[in-house]
Amino acid sequence: MTGHKRLFIKTYGCQMNVYDSERMAETLGAQGYVLTDKADDADMVLLNTCHIREKAAEKVYSDLGRLKPLKAEKPDLKIGVAGCVAQAEGAEIQRRMPLVDLVVGPQAYHRLPEMLARVDAGEKALDTDFPPEDKFEHLPKLRTRSAPSAFLTVQEGCDKFCAFCVVPYTRGAEVSRPVDRLMTEARDLAARGVREITLLGQNVNAWHGDAAGRGLGWLIREMAGIEGIARIRYTTSHPNDMDDDLIAAHGDCAALMPYLHLPVQSGSDRILKAMNRKHTAEQYLRLIERIRAARPDIVLTSDFIVGFPGETDTDFEATMDLVRAVGYGMAYSFKYSARPGTPAAEKTPVAPEIADDRLHRLQALLTEQQRACQESMVGREVGVLYEKPGRLPGQMSGKSDHLHAVHVDDPDGKVGELVRVRITAAAPNSLAAVRIGS
Ligand code: SF4
Repeated sequence: MTGHKRLFIKTYGCQMNVYDSERMAETLGAQGYVLTDKADDADMVLLNTCHIREKAAEKVYSDLGRLKPLKAEKPDLKIGVAGCVAQAEGAEIQRRMPLVDLVVGPQAYHRLPEMLARVDAGEKALDTDFPPEDKFEHLPKLRTRSAPSAFLTVQEGCDKFCAFCVVPYTRGAEVSRPVDRLMTEARDLAARGVREITLLGQNVNAWHGDAAGRGLGWLIREMAGIEGIARIRYTTSHPNDMDDDLIAAHGDCAALMPYLHLPVQSGSDRILKAMNRKHTAEQYLRLIERIRAARPDIVLTSDFIVGFPGETDTDFEATMDLVRAVGYGMAYSFKYSARPGTPAAEKTPVAPEIADDRLHRLQALLTEQQRACQESMVGREVGVLYEKPGRLPGQMSGKSDHLHAVHVDDPDGKVGELVRVRITAAAPNSLAAVRIGS
């Protein structure tokens, strides 16, 4: 034990990183660290980085540069870099930024205590291995948790090698966590009052158990049987891993919420091929039909990249057609930007002004669809899980079954309650409701 020390973690990027930061805080908690929300107070600063955005590594270097005065003032301050930039840059981080004491990749953070011991002994520590042991087996048990909604990582890594993406290089090959560990963790979460579990993975629907027929649909049904677990979600999925059983679960498993994030990236077969997505626009649309047949009220969301190298006006119009055909509840859309080391990075990008114009048009259409989806909820009865008191007195806030943010007039409401509400009004990013039952 190193005594009572303060740990500041800055988390960049996705939900996987949010989950990883929680687990790193727990690992370091066992070493005597408690979390602080101020870097200035900290004895250790950990940057849990993300490599998805453009110039991600440069942003991390500039954040590290801003820590220099603090380190000069407090020479004992420990500084660590974790996550995907740590994995991608490795020793280069310590070479460029000597103030960094430790660099830990996403597969190695269970080794933080040993690394910390080396740092305490005055050494620098670096671990960006993909170790053979399962890091989750070596982490301390989850602490008491009061939030009604929790993440649970079931799968990590990706073998898909989409031409624009760094994940297969930074997170490694697909690995599914074993059933017994996952069920134990899910039961622990339920025992701590968690009502909703979001299963996480870079390619979550590629999860598979160790026996035939045990895919994500099977796991979801198993978890739905745990007392106290009322809602299950999962993210992020690849269209090619939506198997029949998982689609069926959307129709027959009441705990599986009517919401699915299913990235497609483009509506042009030529661009989908160049992206190495391994499916066509038509196959995606047929898949959506099958999912909607299983769960007609499902809200679908997606990711899009515009201006991928080689994208013509015709390709872009195909994307607009696909968006019109699906009708999304929400979608993330980005202008293509090259990630060093990926195959697409070697190709010539679309002129920025053309890509900007396409992005603008796509976002206008997606915003219109989002508004239509929000408005279609008015008058409907849905479930809401209360996550916190609302902004106004007598209000509670939470997420609907369809993952809309909802503010409910309910002076007696309590965090963690799952209630029935009637939606009374729609704003661009949230809904208003009244409680009609429990
Ligand atoms: S499936 Fe997702 S994580 Fe895997 S390479 Fe493609 S975009 Fe990246």
